[in-house]
Amino acid sequence: MVIYMADYAKNDMITVTIEDMGTDGEGIGKLDGFTFFIKDAVIGDVVEAKVMKAKKNYAYARLMRVITPSKERVEPVCAYHKQCGGCQIQALDYKAQLAFKENKVRNHLLRIGGFSAELLDNVMEPIVGMENPYHYRNKAQFPVGTDKEGNLITGFYAGRTHDIIANTDCALGVAENQPILETVLAYMRENQVSAYDEKTGQGLVRHILIRKGFTSGEIMVCLIVNGNTLPAEDRLVETLKSMEGVTSIYINTNTENTNVIMGRKNRVLWGESTISDVIHPRTIEEIESGKDALADQDREGITFAISPLSFYQVNPVQTEKLYSLALEYAGLTGEETVWDLYCGIGTISLFMAQRAKQVYGVEIVEQAILDARENAKRNHIENASFYVGKAEEVLPHLYETEHIFADVICVDPPRKGCDEACLETMVKMAPKRIVYVSCDSATLARDLKYLCANGYELKRVRPVDQFGHTVHTEVCVKLCRKISL
Ligand code: SAH
Repeated sequence: MVIYMADYAKNDMITVTIEDMGTDGEGIGKLDGFTFFIKDAVIGDVVEAKVMKAKKNYAYARLMRVITPSKERVEPVCAYHKQCGGCQIQALDYKAQLAFKENKVRNHLLRIGGFSAELLDNVMEPIVGMENPYHYRNKAQFPVGTDKEGNLITGFYAGRTHDIIANTDCALGVAENQPILETVLAYMRENQVSAYDEKTGQGLVRHILIRKGFTSGEIMVCLIVNGNTLPAEDRLVETLKSMEGVTSIYINTNTENTNVIMGRKNRVLWGESTISDVIHPRTIEEIESGKDALADQDREGITFAISPLSFYQVNPVQTEKLYSLALEYAGLTGEETVWDLYCGIGTISLFMAQRAKQVYGVEIVEQAILDARENAKRNHIENASFYVGKAEEVLPHLYETEHIFADVICVDPPRKGCDEACLETMVKMAPKRIVYVSCDSATLARDLKYLCANGYELKRVRPVDQFGHTVHTEVCVKLCRKISL
């Protein structure tokens, strides 16, 4: 047995070439079999780094200097990309980011899923990227606090901390965020409204939530407050309501000493109680070329009403592409019964209902199901019904008691993937096709291994970049039931 001794100790300086990037976007380099993890270094860089923490055969090191920059290194648009917890790979050229994500999905399918390289060469399709991977988020929550001099600030938390870095101009958020945030800060200064202090539990304004409906242009501003009211609320309303796009202003009350941002109580200060957004199906040709064959008003879209607490996908441009792919993979003709598990507010369910005979959604959060039913009504969709509960409990129960049937099952689980009891029932139900939408390719690979060991064949795999500049990626997968002889 070879025993590695710690050849490196804290504060050692090293020079290393970055050969790979880890799942969190950290650069990985090797010296004599010893592995270094270096945040903010990108593939292809030669860097000087300082060892911060050394273990037996690996160490974490801090990037001190880029000696030779990688061909794929770019100047990040945001000055705070290193401190901020939001983006991990802004210094990597966007094309290289997409290649990194494709590779990550492929590696998980190879290593965890046990699929062969030949099969993956056949079934993997190129990642769907963004034309312009900035300002894509339709929702942002900015913490409010004070700097060392006691000035009011808003911005974002530095990675893994609750220290606020003052910056109202996030490169991923909409352009309207900045003037709205500046307006709220000015109102707070002029009216001596305090910021909440997590340590003491004192002070009023905790966060500012801004949401925008991309197709409607409507903007909702919600102040999350440690209390029920704010001083001079009318002045806040006066300045905010005159701003371009603002149609809804809220106070959300959160008096708990907690990391959870929003409280449960909402009050409309001015305007509408919801903003709206529309998701339109697109063809694969449109997705691939980035050119639309039809104007949005000539397509049948689904309209969603969004309130401060509603769940809604944060990147609407890519969500349309992701769900259009899911729709294509489902291969619907209008005759099918579809089960949409982990359905949230029914986004995929309603998208599919337009092309299926009947859709059933299952979701654990009751409010989301109430929203899903409302969304169905709003869009005059009558062939979609929804169940509240855990997919791994509702599905087996209904299968045992009512012998439910599916032509197609779609799943869109959270990062931990599907529970085995859910997969087991899916296999028993034996749908012709399974569409798996995943936000974590490691658990996706694990679940695909199970499904492919139990009668299914991997047909198509396509990553979609929902979260540019971060390490996260979505994947849409099509499985078909093997024809038994
Ligand atoms: N497809 C939806 C939501 C996907 S997010 C959309 O695009 O809007 C995953 C959803 O799974 C969340 O809404 C979460 O509340 C739900 N969820 C988490 N665990 C679950 C479980 N065990 N059973 C059913 N739903 C679950």
